[in-house]
Amino acid sequence: MELSKYSIGVGDRFAHQGVAQLRAIMKANQSGLEISPVWNKSNREHIYVHTHPADVRREADAAVAALGYRGKYFVDADHINLSTVAPFVETADFFTLDVAAFIGKPSPEADVEAFVNSCEKYLGDLSIPGIEKPLHVTRELLESIASRFLAATEQASEIYKYLVENKGVGNFVTEVSMDEVESPQTPVDMLFILKMLADKGVPAQTIAPKFTGRFNKGVDYRGDLEQFAREFEEDVLVIDFAVKEFGLPKKLKLSVHSGSDKFSIYPIMADIIRKYDKGLHLKTAGTTWLEEVIGLAVAGGEALELAKQIYANSFNRKEELCAPYADVIDIDGAQLPSVEEVNTWTSEKYANTLRHIPGNADYNSNFRQLIHVAYKVAAELGETYTSMLEKYAEIIGNCVEENIYDRHLKRLFNL
Ligand SMILES: [Zn+2]
Repeated sequence: MELSKYSIGVGDRFAHQGVAQLRAIMKANQSGLEISPVWNKSNREHIYVHTHPADVRREADAAVAALGYRGKYFVDADHINLSTVAPFVETADFFTLDVAAFIGKPSPEADVEAFVNSCEKYLGDLSIPGIEKPLHVTRELLESIASRFLAATEQASEIYKYLVENKGVGNFVTEVSMDEVESPQTPVDMLFILKMLADKGVPAQTIAPKFTGRFNKGVDYRGDLEQFAREFEEDVLVIDFAVKEFGLPKKLKLSVHSGSDKFSIYPIMADIIRKYDKGLHLKTAGTTWLEEVIGLAVAGGEALELAKQIYANSFNRKEELCAPYADVIDIDGAQLPSVEEVNTWTSEKYANTLRHIPGNADYNSNFRQLIHVAYKVAAELGETYTSMLEKYAEIIGNCVEENIYDRHLKRLFNL
């Protein structure tokens, strides 16, 4: 099973927007591209929203049938590990093996030594085509990389073997993710991580490193854009080299776990993948849930009241809701409007505050990040929330489609 060159992860927390998301992708594909939708959902999201992996498969199949979509599509068991993978086996065909927790865990000394010895031919100055300066590879560097990543890649191999036993070889797409950690992986780390994966027979089709800079939830990238561009380009070149050198899947590509809405780096990535004719997987999740709240606000009346209630509950439970996301949000509490103030807002004011259009005077990234982490609040509303999604499906669906197409795909694929 092979992923297409371009693919986008469109997580959908409440599983109501599959059709609207697919409409956006099909619209982009009208220009001759072949972007595959991947419906991704992590175990954590399932627990919060009380859904089951089979719900995502049902949603994806239904959206595809409803629109008569004929391209490839996938269902991603996002950020699974050995203890959480089992319930996803039957219905997912894309598995994101999250091995971040194993970075830095010790490996047997003999394994470290064997790895370092296997890299003998790369010692000294190693030229990677396209990268100006050769990489300087020493035994110390290799030992350091092995001590950080050997156990993590071993874990990827364990999960992969479990999947082969339970799904059969070739019946799923493998992604390896290391993004949910503090320190970024450099291109030279990436090179030897890929060697480890190849040595262990893990046929990764996508790899999700941690990049430098802040990937806060639902808002733009914060960091040095030039440095990001250099790092992204070097990663692309290292992958190209690694594919040939280590015999990894030919279409191996970067997976960017974006946390949604990283608008300022989209054109950078677009230029680089075009320059080298490479693929890309971009994973989003929360951006669609935010469009649901925007759609409710736009719908007005009882739906706007519900959007206000969601904010009030989020505001009052800020600490609890933000705690699990502490590393990926930056909320300035002083910039959050009071509940009383929000309760006086019109549809337009609420939507403009939340919608990610940085040029709009009302846009408030603090408000947006708080709502982003507050989907638990909507989940607790249960039927009250989902019945509104159904009642105002058209308005909400238009917001979802516009967001994925206009703000994401257009910037990513130069449409
Ligand atoms: Zn991730």
